[in-house]
Amino acid sequence: MKIICIGCNYVKHIEELKHQVPSEPVIFMKPDSAIVKRNQDVYLPDFSNELHHEVELVVKINRLGKNIAPRFAHRYYEEIGIGIDFTARDIQRKCLENGLPWEISKAFDRSAPIGKFLPKSELGDLRNLDFHLDVNGITVQKGNSSNMIFPVDEIISYVSRFFTLKIGDLIFTGTPEGVGPVNMGDRLEAFIGDKKLLDFRVK
Ligand code: MG
Repeated sequence: MKIICIGCNYVKHIEELKHQVPSEPVIFMKPDSAIVKRNQDVYLPDFSNELHHEVELVVKINRLGKNIAPRFAHRYYEEIGIGIDFTARDIQRKCLENGLPWEISKAFDRSAPIGKFLPKSELGDLRNLDFHLDVNGITVQKGNSSNMIFPVDEIISYVSRFFTLKIGDLIFTGTPEGVGPVNMGDRLEAFIGDKKLLDFRVK
């Protein structure tokens, strides 16, 4: 399986990082070794002094697909969850300054904790999903899927022009504003609506 991530998909987050609003989805990937399941701990990597949380809605692909039209994209996922696109911001900055790919800042081992997934039927209107991240009990990021520049179905369509989507692939759909550093001992809890789907510690 593969993890496809969308960058720069919320205007206020683009503003906080001083990036450009993209005209097409920004795509990068993480390998399966990035995944952390079952609320297991995440470790501060020894190559970064600035590990940032980015809470994101995550779509789980449930059908094989290529060149999917936006109007059919909804048939390719049944469940949505939440995850953290951990980012070594200091390394990413260096990569960007030098015009280099940023994989080492985004795709390293255990950089993608994912929580429980919920069926679409339990979530209501997918274009109006509230989600948030608490760090040590304080809400630090709050998002709503209505603020995505590229909504889920458009993302699936665009991504599938380049990459065949397979059962079990995950798409991280971008983070809202409020990204920031995590520290040793922090507890991160991520929610869709009022349902807590992810709860782990940084060690
Ligand atoms: Mg992200």
